[in-house]
Amino acid sequence: MLNRRKFIQQTGIIVAGSTMAFSSPAFIFKPKKVIILGAGLSGLTAAYQLKQSGLDVVVLEARNRIGGRVFTHTIDESSKMTVELGAEWVGESHPKIIGYCKEFGLKLNNHQFDTGLILNHQYSPPNTWEHNKTWENKYQQLLTDFKEYNKKQLKDLDKINWWQFLRKMGVSEEDLEILELAHSTDYGESIRFVSAYSALAEYAYSSPKNEMDFKIEGGNSELVKAFTQRIGLENIKIGHLVSSVSQQGRTVTVTCQNGTKWEADKVICTLPVQALHQIDFQPAFSSKKIEALDSLIYARIIKTSILFRERFWKNEGLDILTDGVGQYYFHTTKNQAGTKGCLTSYAIGDKAYVISKMNEQQKINTLCEVLEPAFGKVASLAEKAVSYYWGEDQYSKGAYAIYTLNQSFDTKEMIAKPFKNIYFAGEHIAEWQGFMEGAIETGELAAAMISK
Ligand SMILES: Cc1cc2nc3c(=O)[nH]c(=O)nc-3n(C[C@H](O)[C@H](O)[C@H](O)COP(=O)(O)OP(=O)(O)OC[C@H]3O[C@@H](n4cnc5c(N)ncnc54)[C@H](O)[C@@H]3O)c2cc1C
Repeated sequence: MLNRRKFIQQTGIIVAGSTMAFSSPAFIFKPKKVIILGAGLSGLTAAYQLKQSGLDVVVLEARNRIGGRVFTHTIDESSKMTVELGAEWVGESHPKIIGYCKEFGLKLNNHQFDTGLILNHQYSPPNTWEHNKTWENKYQQLLTDFKEYNKKQLKDLDKINWWQFLRKMGVSEEDLEILELAHSTDYGESIRFVSAYSALAEYAYSSPKNEMDFKIEGGNSELVKAFTQRIGLENIKIGHLVSSVSQQGRTVTVTCQNGTKWEADKVICTLPVQALHQIDFQPAFSSKKIEALDSLIYARIIKTSILFRERFWKNEGLDILTDGVGQYYFHTTKNQAGTKGCLTSYAIGDKAYVISKMNEQQKINTLCEVLEPAFGKVASLAEKAVSYYWGEDQYSKGAYAIYTLNQSFDTKEMIAKPFKNIYFAGEHIAEWQGFMEGAIETGELAAAMISK
């Protein structure tokens, strides 16, 4: 079967990796020293690969922790139960992250769910509801046909939003409501912002459970720890917020807010776009690059994990899509021993913003109320709620990038384009954009570009 990477190469679409190969500086010299901005999965992958090639690497990270948007939290100290405040699932079609887990001896547990539905205060348990069969067949055909589309057809799909496209495909009002809830959860904002090309490029190549397949035993931060051990903690400088980057001749000088200065021949910048806006680049980026950076938006997502005294939902593999403010709930402590358990609400867009304004008890009450049609009144079984609103995260101001209309081609290419001795990486310019796989894929590509 044609995989996503081959599809992108075959159609001549230029994204992060190929762009770097195509428009990198005319003379590439093997650098002695490389500075990597950001210790998320992209920066860690690049650092690990460059260390393997024998280069001198330092990673500068603003936060006081390593991992960026991979953020495992121990919600219950006594049972060591963990939840993910950032990335949750490792996808079946994500060979790079699966490969690193194998290489570092990390176990992947099944993290798949069967979806129940709460609509109009009525609960339909998993396997008791389905989309209209005629529509389902049409949709599957569309996913197959998409793989054969030429570049013009693909670019045309980038001009229409996914919601409008689905409507034009003739999906029923009832199915459209469910699809809008489900697919908006994937993108972190309404699918009315997402281009049909973006949606199809993801869904046509996704696993049957839409890349919601595994989780790393002990939490996804175990992968972060494994990279850190191999890179060496002494080479990752936390609490180092980069404030300026200047390039003169073959030297790049990076200055941090804490007054430290770092010099190297090359820089790999893995920072989310909102973080880039805070940095003084000298010389400045071209006006086209600035325009592209200014146009990219990030999704607002809040994850709220509620720790309950008992697993009243009984089914270990349960998730529920709702039309309530909590949007999508799943049993995040599946495969973790104990009588206690956590349900996580994954809310997006305006719903995420509304939840972010609530205190802990309000979150528990409001999010449990949405579940009443399925379980009755359960708020009294809650011990605590922990949540993280990415829309206000100081460094990313969002969970992940969203490519809206007419952005998947030229805008992405412009953002990914190297700038003298600075190379770019990060989920926002990846083929598997919005995923840990994408962060890893671009980290590897940037490292390969400068170490060859
Ligand atoms: C709520 C949520 C759910 C998600 N769910 C999934 C999922 O289920 N599966 C999946 O595969 N992916 C998921 N993702 C996406 C995944 O987390 C990201 O794609 C990936 O972790 C991004 O890695 P990165 O290295 O590109 O960026 P980051 O992890 O953001 O790393 C960039 C780093 O740069 C640092 N930084 C920023 N500014 C500066 C500065 N000025 N100086 C120095 N350092 C700076 C940041 O602190 C950060 O550590 C999710 C993300 C979120 C937020």
